[in-house]
Amino acid sequence: MPFCVSKCRYCDFNSYALTDQDLERHVDAVLQEARARITKLNPQTVFFGGGTPSLLPAGLLHRFLTELDSICGFQSSSLETTMEANPESFDRATSQAAFEGGVNRVSIGIQSLRPEVLQAYDRVHSPETALGAFEIARNAGFQRINLDLIYAFPGQSERKWLNDLATIHTLGAEHLSCYELSYEPGTALTRLKDAGRWQAASEETCAAMFEITREANEAAGYEAYEVSAFAKAGEASMHNLSYWRSLNYVGIGAGAAGWHQGVRRRNLERPEQYEAAVQRGKDPVAEAEQLNPATVLFDHLMMGLRLPYEGVLIPRAQHLSGLDLRKVYANELRELLDRKLLEIIPSVQGDRLRTTHGGLMILDDILTRFLPEGPSMSV
Ligand code: SF4
Repeated sequence: MPFCVSKCRYCDFNSYALTDQDLERHVDAVLQEARARITKLNPQTVFFGGGTPSLLPAGLLHRFLTELDSICGFQSSSLETTMEANPESFDRATSQAAFEGGVNRVSIGIQSLRPEVLQAYDRVHSPETALGAFEIARNAGFQRINLDLIYAFPGQSERKWLNDLATIHTLGAEHLSCYELSYEPGTALTRLKDAGRWQAASEETCAAMFEITREANEAAGYEAYEVSAFAKAGEASMHNLSYWRSLNYVGIGAGAAGWHQGVRRRNLERPEQYEAAVQRGKDPVAEAEQLNPATVLFDHLMMGLRLPYEGVLIPRAQHLSGLDLRKVYANELRELLDRKLLEIIPSVQGDRLRTTHGGLMILDDILTRFLPEGPSMSV
């Protein structure tokens, strides 16, 4: 659902400020694409993201979920159905409609508990509304709640961030996602930074905050099972794990991406182009490519090395890509294993390659060592 109340300054998602767009028309287009592509799919997990799905009026949200269920049967098949919600639009009616429509996990974009930080990001909610959204979700019956937070705001002290985290911990959400503030190409924040009007936190500060975030969350009972994801026992996100484990997934909607047996595809991004294509009876695909074996292997490493405990199962990497990563990356592995940034550990299913604590902190640098050469093929 690619619409938001306004565009946050750091956001590089496919999202658009809602002005006079027709939400009914957009929902109909998404349902039409779903009818064409996922009838009777019976998915194991569903993630309803954006943008801001909670922006849909309760009645429309309920119709969407009911019709989607009649198309793909998710209400009985899906073990985990998550909806993203932003505090400003997540009222009781929306929350209830989501719960009754088969959503069993909600992910709330809190981002910060500091009004000045929210303002600097151009977020439209207040800390009070954010905390209120959590309560609304619990009152509607949600037993699985994720809270999204961002750290490394310029000048943010460790003390303030730890205080905010402590407040978050008292809520008792099942899952936290704590991201370092990032500067993606083309965002308003990156333009401000490039113009010298925004001072990003130093690498050392970011590394220190990464560390204290993990320590504080673990002390509060949240396991750091991925670079940015923290879960209470048994509460890891099944849907996100399926990305990190390179399982197949289908993306429905404007700009949605999918991955199926080595073919990566992405839909048209602009909502009006997406709607027009679907209404003409066309597949709204923007690009689809058959990944070459080296790219499949790299993608699998890129996702799997985010998981510090399970890492990448070496025989599965070979099954997916047809390549033996120990041979393809013999030199790189020798060095990274020697430097104790990666490790290989035995498991019942075979050897696993995983990042050490030190490696996790410089995962992006490690991954650049594995970048494949040569293009994939459009299909
Ligand atoms: S609410 Fe989320 S998707 Fe929407 S603009 Fe902000 S960060 Fe982007």
